[in-house]
Amino acid sequence: VTGGSQGAGYRPVIGLEVHAQLLTHSKMFCGCDARYSGARPNSHVCPVCLGLPGALPVINRAALEQTLMVATALNCRVPETSRFDRKNYPYPDIPKGYQISQYAAPLGRAGHLDIFHADGPDRVGIIRVHLEEDTGKTMHSVLDGRPVSLVDYNRSGVPLLEIVSEPCIHSPDAARRYFAGLREVLVYLGVNSGDMEEGVLRADVNVSLSRGAHPGAKVEIKNLNSFRAVTRALEFEIDRQAALLEAGGQVAQETRGWDEGQEETVSQRSKEYAEDYRYFPEPDLPALTVSPERVEEIRRTLPELPAARRARYVDSAGLSPYEAEVITQDPALASLFDETLSLQPPGGSKAVANWIMGELLRLLHEAAVPLEASNISPRGLSGLLRLLGDGTITNAQAKIVFARMFETGAEADEIVRREGLAQIADTDELAATVRRVLAENEALVRDYVEKGGKTEGPLIGKVMAATGGRANAALVRELIRSLLSPEATAQ
Ligand SMILES: [Zn+2]
Repeated sequence: VTGGSQGAGYRPVIGLEVHAQLLTHSKMFCGCDARYSGARPNSHVCPVCLGLPGALPVINRAALEQTLMVATALNCRVPETSRFDRKNYPYPDIPKGYQISQYAAPLGRAGHLDIFHADGPDRVGIIRVHLEEDTGKTMHSVLDGRPVSLVDYNRSGVPLLEIVSEPCIHSPDAARRYFAGLREVLVYLGVNSGDMEEGVLRADVNVSLSRGAHPGAKVEIKNLNSFRAVTRALEFEIDRQAALLEAGGQVAQETRGWDEGQEETVSQRSKEYAEDYRYFPEPDLPALTVSPERVEEIRRTLPELPAARRARYVDSAGLSPYEAEVITQDPALASLFDETLSLQPPGGSKAVANWIMGELLRLLHEAAVPLEASNISPRGLSGLLRLLGDGTITNAQAKIVFARMFETGAEADEIVRREGLAQIADTDELAATVRRVLAENEALVRDYVEKGGKTEGPLIGKVMAATGGRANAALVRELIRSLLSPEATAQ
């Protein structure tokens, strides 16, 4: 809570409705290709998703399966029967004049999601998980000097999951964490790409300010498609409502939009109520029956979810909660961690985690690519750690090897051999180099002797530079100490 709302004793009450496009090949009720990104407008359409008279919908089985996975992962109760309803509203991007959705009998009810944070998990109640179809997209433009609205129906009929939380969230930051946690679950289940810039995951948030037992009017902010937008829009709205109430005004129950550029919410229309939509059972589709055995089977075959993975990393791999959180934020990173660890001698988890969180994330960030696009494999990373562990290469060399591996996918020992990167741990060879460096740096040597050996760092640095980072640092230190010892210099 920010600004004036704090002192005035208002408590924000926040709920989220998250819409997630499912990763199916075809649309929700027709055979059109659901992967429309980048396609020519109105090229992924047919009589069903254009809402032409007489066209009949057919339920997409994969979308149903994915919804059941999500409902189960979110600990929902899955009733034996559920059904689709018509939600009537006349928008140009809804060609039928109604959207096929679920209202009275959704696929999942009464679940929850535990959100991980430093003080322990926060439980957010989930009212319902239901399946519906996405709308088309309206664009406002100017053609021949006249304002026009253009509609693209490629998105019309794409399977869309709606997940409605309880209004049990009390800060913008908790709302963001819940949204991020939900995204993670969907990505882990493989039912949503998580690519927020593509608009495949969007949140409508509702917020009211209550004081004592007195609930406030609910304002809904539509279509937020980034974590930042959720946080900023809620912060703005909480301050706006608090200021209004403080000045003796009233908050209107309405729908507002988020203006990204101005960073403010703007009034759009008064909020619709359920009765405005004239819901009724969809007559063109049968009711759905899901047996408890089927639900149990889905529950058994769910992949390990992020929360469970995090707990396992902390409890049995010995990672800190922070390390576990960073590594589990992307299922591909977590798999790399697990698989590399299985190739390592026991106790290697910290080293594996450090390389993933350090060099790997740095290189991925620099190249702006996902892990899948790099050449780092569990075998590769494990080979590198072995060479580092047995002293074949130094830490500085390992970074070079890792960068090559990232680019080319070659094995660590092959890179070391090809580039002559092996560490110099041969005392005679190194002693010759150290002698030469000492002879070339009289001032540093004098300083070292005068200060009783307290300034060895610069000398070690010179030797490391002279060997291209290949020298064993511990051995260099030992050689400098012995070559510049009082006994040696007295001769
Ligand atoms: Zn179609």
